[in-house]
Amino acid sequence: MIQKANGDAIEVILEGPISEKTEIFDIKIQNFKDIKLNMAKVTFINSIGVKNWISWTTRMATGAKLTLEECPYVIVNQVNIVHGFVPKNSVITSFFAPFLCDACSHEQVLKLENGVHYKYAQNQLPHEVNLPEVICAKCGAVMEPDFMVDKTFGFLKEKT
Ligand SMILES: [Zn+2]
Repeated sequence: MIQKANGDAIEVILEGPISEKTEIFDIKIQNFKDIKLNMAKVTFINSIGVKNWISWTTRMATGAKLTLEECPYVIVNQVNIVHGFVPKNSVITSFFAPFLCDACSHEQVLKLENGVHYKYAQNQLPHEVNLPEVICAKCGAVMEPDFMVDKTFGFLKEKT
């Protein structure tokens, strides 16, 4: 784990599994207003990791913002399935989504970005999803998302 604090902002690059031992939970999250986590190298999260994560993020200061960058698909899944996994004031700026080629079964992972491939619901406007056309690197066919689009983008809906 690499961390860089600057006043009330902190940037952390996470690596490996999120479990009971993850060092990130030692960070005093309540001391920061702007918390940016790069998740690209996170491998998985177990149930204790989920529990620790939620009790850690609930200690965030009022009005503080949590930004998650380059989330693996498993983390986006948690955000959608586990109520309260991310606080209200949070944003996933990008995540990795799996695509599958029907023609040759080749799999590719693509980074989807906020403001390009999706937009959060806000000011009564619904969320938006604009999946790119993904071309199979092996056979040139158009690939299909290997995930349930509706469910995966559930995190974009306005939190009530
Ligand atoms: Zn193919």
